[in-house]
Amino acid sequence: MARFSDEVVNRIKNEVSLVRLVENWGLPLKKHGKDYIGHCPFHDDKTPSFVISPESNLWHCLGACGEGGSVIDWVMKTQGVSFRHALELLRNDHLPLAADTPVKN
Ligand SMILES: [Zn+2]
Repeated sequence: MARFSDEVVNRIKNEVSLVRLVENWGLPLKKHGKDYIGHCPFHDDKTPSFVISPESNLWHCLGACGEGGSVIDWVMKTQGVSFRHALELLRNDHLPLAADTPVKN
């Protein structure tokens, strides 16, 4: 099984567009200032309380469930997979070469 270095984990968190990932999953988003908002898929959301910050590439829910996190947490929650499995899915779909990329600081 593939191992993921911190470098790869960080690249996935930073380089995979959360906005695109969420929209492709089927959640419509609206631009709101410098953030994007939509209806949280994890609770019965009457007002759009799901917020994505493209700057930090993080999401969080301001409503009932209070969930949040990175692209990895999004995939874990929407697909019901483990942390490692979410990393594999994201790497295969978005960063096919990440595992072979030398660490650069
Ligand atoms: Zn929620």
